Amino acid sequence: MTGMQRYPHLFNPLDLGFTRLKNRVLMGSMHTGLEEAENGFERMAEYYAERARGGVGMIITGGIAPNEEAGSGSKLSTAAEAAQHRAITTAVHAADADVKICLQILHTGPLARTPLCVAPSPVKSRIASYTPRELDEAGIEKQISDFANCARQAQAAGYDGVEIIGSAGYLLSTFLVRKTNLRTDRWGGTWENRMRMPVEVVRRVREAVGQRFIVIFRIAAMDMLEGGLAWEEIVSLAQAIEAAGANIISTHFCWHESPVPTIATMVPRAAFAQVTGRLRKVLSVPVITSNRINMPAVAEEVLARGDADLVSMARPMLADPEIVLKALQGREDEINTCIACNQACLDHTFGGHKQVSCLVNPRACNETLLRYLPTPASKRIAVVGAGPAGLAYATVAAQRGHRVTLFDAGAEIGGQFNLAKRIPGKEEFYETLRYYRRMIDVHGIDLHLNTRVDAASLKAQGFDEVVIATGITPRQPAIDGIHHAKVVPYIDAILGRKPIGRRVAILGAGGIGFDVAELVSHAGVSGAVDVEVFAREWGIDFKNHPRGGVTGVTPEVAKSDREVWLMQRKADALGKSLGRTTGWTHRMTLNRRGVHLVSGVEYLKIDDAGLHTMVNGEPRLFEVDSVIICAGQTPLRSLYDELMASGLKPSLVGGAFEASELDAKRAIDQASRLAAEV
Ligand code: FAD
Ligand code: NAP
Ligand code: SF4
Repeated sequence: MTGMQRYPHLFNPLDLGFTRLKNRVLMGSMHTGLEEAENGFERMAEYYAERARGGVGMIITGGIAPNEEAGSGSKLSTAAEAAQHRAITTAVHAADADVKICLQILHTGPLARTPLCVAPSPVKSRIASYTPRELDEAGIEKQISDFANCARQAQAAGYDGVEIIGSAGYLLSTFLVRKTNLRTDRWGGTWENRMRMPVEVVRRVREAVGQRFIVIFRIAAMDMLEGGLAWEEIVSLAQAIEAAGANIISTHFCWHESPVPTIATMVPRAAFAQVTGRLRKVLSVPVITSNRINMPAVAEEVLARGDADLVSMARPMLADPEIVLKALQGREDEINTCIACNQACLDHTFGGHKQVSCLVNPRACNETLLRYLPTPASKRIAVVGAGPAGLAYATVAAQRGHRVTLFDAGAEIGGQFNLAKRIPGKEEFYETLRYYRRMIDVHGIDLHLNTRVDAASLKAQGFDEVVIATGITPRQPAIDGIHHAKVVPYIDAILGRKPIGRRVAILGAGGIGFDVAELVSHAGVSGAVDVEVFAREWGIDFKNHPRGGVTGVTPEVAKSDREVWLMQRKADALGKSLGRTTGWTHRMTLNRRGVHLVSGVEYLKIDDAGLHTMVNGEPRLFEVDSVIICAGQTPLRSLYDELMASGLKPSLVGGAFEASELDAKRAIDQASRLAAEV
């Protein structure tokens, strides 16, 4: 079956009257950090062009500020700035003249990281750096006219349209909500007054650019805030925006301060599309849906159900620039799927790392720097260990034309990802393993499972290069009683090799400690694969859509009948090492399940009575049945040491190279870079 036949809705062009989108997939806006980087425009040009070649119908750029007060990032308000953007629009249209590219106009309002920031009222957001200056009438007129000017400059720069963001806690959305709009003039108070600003912005932008230019407005279709927007308000706003001249309404499910995860890996695929579906029924213009739509089949299902006219994929375009092309060519099993970890994208944006990339695709945003070019001299390479590091190395090297033999002692590829995928909420990790399994076939990698390699056999086979990706050994802390029957290493706990009792202590509260706490305190179906369970666990009411879409009552959470203590030696709050944009969801989940989070623990002894400790200087006995050890890891280098001793000079990657603070992001990145050079 061809891609067209399998995804008839996805590949159905969309007629906008004066122009046409070649299919129903757009790349959603993402700030990449390239906007402010050296050679940023050259790098963005290649980054977007690669996605255009990869088959997407329309691209929305990362957010660009219309003026100084709108944000600390890149600005577009002058002809000179428009000239720089030409590099992007020219590259995209040269890659495929049928691909549209729209500039997102982002006015972050009270969230702008500048003391110049402005808002309808001087209400400081919990997550903002400054209290915004209240706009007066002239100030409001300036902001509107700057939006219009930015759109005009975008048009001059060769963009096909603009997207105006009116959600997420940014300027336009703060006019809509009473909490952030305390005004009593014609820009505040009644609903008609509160929605005046976004509607006026759309009207003036349309006036500035004429009819033959795409204007998209992004609306908060469910902002997840108690006291947020009511459904009737969302409908009337969307209809007014349509009347003011928008060609497309894009639905957004976000307000940065909301305590509900909307894109993390524990959010089910396409969970929010049903809300777009309801809004679509009351509008005449096409509607975009988004959030956790990461495979073509999911997109097709959403479109076929009539929930949307277009599907936005943002992070999935970082993970695989060719996602649409692969769907079209019937190669969906070759798609490198976004696992919604946020580790190399949003955690970088919000963690001050500046530049975004992707855990499963380190080339994302590095297109001009990290190239996998065909090798002029094909080598015979042995890769030992088929965890993320070994898999990434083998795939890149083989793709470049090397002859790769990949060994693993286990019965399946994946290394520790085979543990990660068993954690409720991490089901997407299966996709990464499916991708690598397929790459092994596509690139003709010679795979040997159930093969524990030793130095002698490697030497005997005479490889040109040997790469050691043997991973780690779990750390066994020197605690009196560490060999007691109730002690369980995390690997055995996750694989179910040893029974876990009703009262459980988990020693070590890094990523793995948190995951193990999730596993042993979990009951029932994972919310990540069931929208109703997810909604119940996070207090979302999809059916009645109260204000903000949230019930406001403490959510019901299913939990096992175990009593669980998660502990660490450090005196800090637990979970500081977790991801910036996802750590809070894990802490909140465990809190709601009644898991005890204990810091400042000194482990003294494990015996029949339980775990003896000092907690912040006080003796304390935890009367537990099981003690699960999640105390970090050390590199597994015995094979490397043997090879070095025998005169070979193998390369080291992943956990075998450095176990401290190792994660799959670093393992895949390091291995891919090394394989790009060999
Ligand atoms: P490993 O994955 O450990 O792979 C090493 C491989 O080498 C193994 O398959 C092993 O069988 C093989 N091997 C060893 N010796 C030999 C030998 N002599 N011969 C043949 N084969 C051999 N990271 C993240 O970034 N995000 C997460 O959300 C995340 N969640 C996790 C959840 C859990 C429960 C766990 C356990 C880990 C998680 N990680 C996560 C960490 C991530 O899985 C590791 O950082 C990553 O797997 C390290 O990759 P690696 O290839 O270096 O080593
Ligand atoms: P980790 O993050 O380094 O955590 C190890 C934990 O063990 C810490 O809480 C540490 O806290 C404790 N510890 C260290 N030495 C100890 C000792 N000698 N005795 C007792 N406790 C000790 O490692 P991890 O949890 O094993 O995770 C491994 C890697 O996988 C991490 O780098 C992590 O990023 C990655 N991972 C990521 C995720 C994710 O969601 N992003 C999930 C899972 C794993 P104290 O020293 O304070 O006790
Ligand atoms: Fe998706 Fe994770 Fe890559 Fe971000 S880093 S694009 S969430 S796979």
